[in-house]
Amino acid sequence: MYFLSRLTVFSVTEKPAAPPRTGARGVQVVNTGAEHTFVLDEEALEQLLLQDDIKDRAAVVISVAGAFRKGKSFLLDFFLRYMHHKYGAGGGGGEWLGSEDEPLSGFSWRGGSERDTTGILMWSEIFKATLETGEKVAIILLDTQGAFDSESTVRECATVFALSTMLSSVQIYNLAQNIQEDDLQHLQLFTEYGRLALEDGGRTPFQRLQFVVRDWSFPYEAPYGAEGGQKILQRRLKVSDKQHPELQSLRKHITSCFSEIACFLMPHPGLKVATSPDFDGRLSDIEGEFKRALLQLVPMLLAPHNLVPKLINGQPVRVKDLLQYFRSYMNIYRG
Ligand code: GDP
Ligand code: MG
Repeated sequence: MYFLSRLTVFSVTEKPAAPPRTGARGVQVVNTGAEHTFVLDEEALEQLLLQDDIKDRAAVVISVAGAFRKGKSFLLDFFLRYMHHKYGAGGGGGEWLGSEDEPLSGFSWRGGSERDTTGILMWSEIFKATLETGEKVAIILLDTQGAFDSESTVRECATVFALSTMLSSVQIYNLAQNIQEDDLQHLQLFTEYGRLALEDGGRTPFQRLQFVVRDWSFPYEAPYGAEGGQKILQRRLKVSDKQHPELQSLRKHITSCFSEIACFLMPHPGLKVATSPDFDGRLSDIEGEFKRALLQLVPMLLAPHNLVPKLINGQPVRVKDLLQYFRSYMNIYRG
């Protein structure tokens, strides 16, 4: 099976993230139950989504998905830095990336090859922002865990990916090294799960898909960043008569599922990040090129003028309404 074809593991160290500030944390809202079923923690979700100051705002939901141990949570913690800076109490002037010696906190990220539980985590702080149109929104971050390590977990993984794609306005598909044919095949499977679940006929079912390729090592072929990413993406998603019909329909399917698809090429963060057991996320241990890429990528996704409110059936979704969508989408995958 193609699912087993690429299992790169970044490192073999154990490093929990530094304790988060003010008790903020990733809350597991979707858990794995017995025999590869999923369980929604409705109580936890209600506590997060029914807070008075955000429940009536339009939701912007940003999710990061992909195989485990590929730096998803690590990347999300830089999203959190940006959000604290931009949408936190400070008001957002100056540098957001932080000081050189500050350990990285937030969703826990670590090395090691044993897998974490599969499911969806929501960051407990929901950030308030105002779009350029004046619309007040609330930003929700989702971290997902999926593994591709056996046949039985493929369905789990597809479910997590499908759920998070249905619930988010921006799905970030985090990949190591390159966009390969099996990554596209996975994507087709995931989106097919999701597409079937949504009854809505004519509309493009999902919104923005952002590929993020980690450890891109061919900058001479396509430069780091969004432009290089676009070049690679066009090449990978191109449909031509010379391709096998299956490859053509795979590409057409993916393109038809999202209203916008982009790709960003991240450089390698350096050996300390990838292998050092003592690495705590501080900037001084991260390669300059990686930090420059973060400065481009993160605002591209999170600056006020780039925020994408979540639409379902073409209508904006309020934070409190997400609760019902979580419930009904979970029901689809029950049994
Ligand atoms: P997740 O399972 O996808 O959430 O991965 P984590 O965020 O927990 O990161 C797994 C390991 O990869 C950690 O040891 C990180 O230090 C390391 N890491 C984070 N980002 C990168 C990257 O871009 N490249 C490499 N090679 N390692 C990374
Ligand atoms: Mg993680």
